[in-house]
Amino acid sequence: MTNHILLLGPPASGKGTQARRLAEYLNVPCLGTGKLLRNEIKESTEIGKIAEDFINRGAYVPDGVIMTMVEEWMVDNQSGWLLDGFPRTKPQAEALNNMRRPDMVLALEVPQEELEFRITKRRECSSCGATVAVKNSTDTICPECSSGELVSRSDDALDSFKIRYANYTELTKPLFDYYDDLGMLRKVDGTQSPDEVFNEITKLL
Ligand SMILES: [Zn+2]
Repeated sequence: MTNHILLLGPPASGKGTQARRLAEYLNVPCLGTGKLLRNEIKESTEIGKIAEDFINRGAYVPDGVIMTMVEEWMVDNQSGWLLDGFPRTKPQAEALNNMRRPDMVLALEVPQEELEFRITKRRECSSCGATVAVKNSTDTICPECSSGELVSRSDDALDSFKIRYANYTELTKPLFDYYDDLGMLRKVDGTQSPDEVFNEITKLL
């Protein structure tokens, strides 16, 4: 059964939305390292304190710290998971393979020009957290939950995106080849509508 899934894709590829839908579809928890980190920091755990120190200095939290956190999470979630945003680097991917190999690695493919086009239209729901692209600026109600207000994310500026995309290209994009060489990669055309992307994903499972 395919219930240990890794979802890869560039920033603004719609990965977060697909991850939420897929986790719900498979009835498995979704690992978000950002959320885990925020929890650790909020609860002032040892990991949280170390991570906060790096974040405050504007540095990336090192692989070792992330791995310790993920290992703890995986002990509690052995029967299945959906990984989104982890592994972010090849060393993290290698460490994951030594822990629990994903049954499948899904790679959302969206060209950079399309991503930049989306960035300028992207809003986030203040209620359910969904990320949606608006057709015009008067669209303020979330189409996912029909109640939340859509807000423009401060980190959505094109400049900020370009930095994140450069990081992604350098650190995370090599994972496509890494998993492809292992015969684990399944490519998905991320330029389709969210429903079409999800449909294509479920057919691959
Ligand atoms: Zn919403």
